[in-house]
Amino acid sequence: MTLSLRSIFGLEGKKALVTGSSRGIGAAIARGLSAAGAQVLVHARTEAATRGIMAEIVESGGIATSIACDLADCGAGRRLALEAEDITGGIDVLIVNASSQINAPLTGLDSIQLETQLAVNLGSTVEMLQILLPRMAKRGWGRVVNIGSINQSRPKGIVTAYAALKAAQHNVMQSQAREYAERGVLLNTLAPGLVDTDRNRDRKLADPAGWQAYARELNWMKRAGRPEELVGAAIFLSSDACSFMTGEAIFVTGGC
Ligand code: NAP
Repeated sequence: MTLSLRSIFGLEGKKALVTGSSRGIGAAIARGLSAAGAQVLVHARTEAATRGIMAEIVESGGIATSIACDLADCGAGRRLALEAEDITGGIDVLIVNASSQINAPLTGLDSIQLETQLAVNLGSTVEMLQILLPRMAKRGWGRVVNIGSINQSRPKGIVTAYAALKAAQHNVMQSQAREYAERGVLLNTLAPGLVDTDRNRDRKLADPAGWQAYARELNWMKRAGRPEELVGAAIFLSSDACSFMTGEAIFVTGGC
């Protein structure tokens, strides 16, 4: 059999939904999947938010469409998945990237903050999988890449609920990986360490020196990652290159 990079990593003909792809890690992965040949469905809370990334992908010769919804809304994950199926004719690759992260000590977290994180991070993930996994299995091929976090295995008190939900999301990937392993549908988690995105912007702007010191202490490379540094692993997990791996997690953290 002749191997080529394209036959291993290429995503030509595949359709990918990347949740939370208006910016940050999601936008970088959407660009990367498009460069690998996939048709990309970008997503954020509003159409206005996805305009930039949509235009970028289309200008570089890719195919992108957009879809908007707030994943905190009841049933939003289910509706998003159904709409994505209608728009594309069938999602082959799901990148579960959007998340809500509320930094607060456990005692400082109110019910609404708790419910929002639960709905966006776990509820919508389960709902999307309920719709998409049986359809992927029927078509005989599918990839789910859950964007986890170093916090799923090394939780910190300031993000207790977020970290626990990241661990739960990965647990869902593992149980469903087992269910679907023989049907061509593979689910894995890509878990970043600190990455320089809007999520950390306020903290960085408020105390640039403190931010640098924090990033230096976090990992062996002594810096925050860049969103594009997650793209190679995301393409791997989305492609035929990942054909004998399911229910696993790849940590991209700068070493820790
Ligand atoms: P980000 O810059 O904060 O962007 C978040 C994305 O998610 C945006 O596209 C946002 O859309 C969307 N989103 C947020 N809440 C949403 C909701 N309720 N409904 C629908 N979409 C929503 O995030 P990021 O830093 O790139 O993080 C991406 C993923 O990596 C997340 O799962 C995060 O937990 C994980 N992660 C990040 C880091 C890090 O240091 N940055 C570290 C470990 C793990 P809008 O434009 O509409 O707001």
